[in-house]
Amino acid sequence: MDMDFAPEDLAFQKEVRAFLDDKLNARLREGAAGTPSVFTEPDITREWQAILAEKGWLATSWPVEDGGPGWTPTQKYIFEKECAIAGAPSLPILGLRLVGPVICHFGTPEQKARFLPRIISGEDYWCQGYSEPGAGSDLAAVKTRAERVGDKYVVNGSKIWTTHAHHANWIFALVRTDPSVQKQRGISFLLIPMEQPGVSVSPIVTMANDHEVNATFFDNAETPADNLIGEEGQGWTIAKFLLENERGGSCAAPALLAKLDRIERWAREEASGSGSGSGGTMIHDPNISQRLARLRLEAQAFEVTELRILAELAKGRPAGPQTSLVKLTSSNLRQQIDELAVDLFGYEGLQLPVTRPLYGNEAPEYVGSRAAQLSMPAYLNGRAYTIFGGSDEVQKTIIAKQVLGL
Ligand SMILES: Cc1cc2nc3c(=O)[nH]c(=O)nc-3n(C[C@H](O)[C@H](O)[C@H](O)COP(=O)(O)OP(=O)(O)OC[C@H]3O[C@@H](n4cnc5c(N)ncnc54)[C@H](O)[C@@H]3O)c2cc1C
Repeated sequence: MDMDFAPEDLAFQKEVRAFLDDKLNARLREGAAGTPSVFTEPDITREWQAILAEKGWLATSWPVEDGGPGWTPTQKYIFEKECAIAGAPSLPILGLRLVGPVICHFGTPEQKARFLPRIISGEDYWCQGYSEPGAGSDLAAVKTRAERVGDKYVVNGSKIWTTHAHHANWIFALVRTDPSVQKQRGISFLLIPMEQPGVSVSPIVTMANDHEVNATFFDNAETPADNLIGEEGQGWTIAKFLLENERGGSCAAPALLAKLDRIERWAREEASGSGSGSGGTMIHDPNISQRLARLRLEAQAFEVTELRILAELAKGRPAGPQTSLVKLTSSNLRQQIDELAVDLFGYEGLQLPVTRPLYGNEAPEYVGSRAAQLSMPAYLNGRAYTIFGGSDEVQKTIIAKQVLGL
């Protein structure tokens, strides 16, 4: 594999750097740096989304005819890497990276015309209704029922862990349209408007004190039959397409390496505590410096894996079940990096603010530094990495069966 960028890629990298330098204002940078949770709040993402949409650099995984920028996988990687280095906010992936590609791939021309521009403009904010109590890892057990009545579907049941459902005006859901057939074949993929009397959302505040996830209830909720994606019973195929995008559709290594850079910077500033340091800064503590070095090597090796997958994509081959390797490795690295940040700050790394946001004028007082204040919320929030999008055990089973053929 040729690891060097071609001259046109280097020119693109320069263009991206100049753009980020120009457009990432102080508020966006502070919002991104001050977000300890996986998802950034809409007050930050909307502004960044609008800037990228204006430039045509938003829906990077969509075909050009649907509004994508037409980038090669390498350009996409360069963009993600430069965004991570510059500290850009994350984007609302549920619309842009999950349901968007599904609509591009499986949607009718009418569905594309109706939904895709509204994802790009930010007019529609999406959430994902896959998991249910009793149907998480065993997703094919979903019970939420959608019955066709005339030209609409009537939906009853509930979804859980629906990220940002309290911000969303649409949900894409796996629903059971036929309970009489084998369970995978009775599932459909349905788009449901959230703003109606039949839908209610109840918050779940996590141990990190974030309100990110919810329980969502459907009580005779309605959606036009036109909002079915694909055929009735095709939901399982579409669900798998979406999950492969969720697990491997983004480039995770650049963000991990950027976080390690930040930790190294903090370690060079942070006075060493009791014990193993040389009386200087934490970077001289062998426990910290060795962990930093090991994690950096692992993240660099992981970056090569991601680049190898990109090379396959560039040849037109699908990412396939290798995305489970990406999900498994990046989640575990992420958690180890978050743990290192907590350890770096000693007792100051144990503070757990009860209010949000941790940026702007409303942010609570911190002990030591804002970075120290963020480390425990990030660590606790990040426990979810090895659960959502399919837990570690689920990824290992996919790798064993579909990659290793065991
Ligand atoms: C922060 C967060 C955000 C989320 N956001 C969303 C969202 O927006 N939309 C959505 O639909 N879902 C969302 N999820 C749900 C997530 O996808 C599920 O939590 C996940 O699929 C696991 O399902 P479960 O919680 O029901 O756990 P279970 O499936 O009950 O698993 C419990 C434990 O058993 C293990 N296990 C289960 N089955 C097996 C097996 N066959 N072999 C070995 N081990 C097994 C699991 O690995 C896990 O450790 C989110 C979850 C979290 C934590």
